[in-house]
Amino acid sequence: MPEDSGDKTLRQRMMALLEAEECGVRDISQALHISEKEVADHLAHIRRSLSDSPQGLAICPAECLACGFVFKDRRRFSRPGRCPLCRQTRITMPRFSIR
Ligand SMILES: [Zn+2]
Repeated sequence: MPEDSGDKTLRQRMMALLEAEECGVRDISQALHISEKEVADHLAHIRRSLSDSPQGLAICPAECLACGFVFKDRRRFSRPGRCPLCRQTRITMPRFSIR
């Protein structure tokens, strides 16, 4: 895969996905056939590149299904492993969109 043009196209496709609907890291990795780690790297870049545009990367934070704790301050893109309040591991994926 050609690194430069391929990479750019991939990011554009990811941004199109995010503009169309809220996506979790796993949704994007499956849609674009890349690893969740790569998705996180691209998301970080997209968030930076949108910082001086009217649009932004909106984050719907992960939430604990057991007690409802919301991981509002989390800056990472992956799902938290464990709830800090109730120690359960049933946690939703954070979801992202461009708005
Ligand atoms: Zn909890």
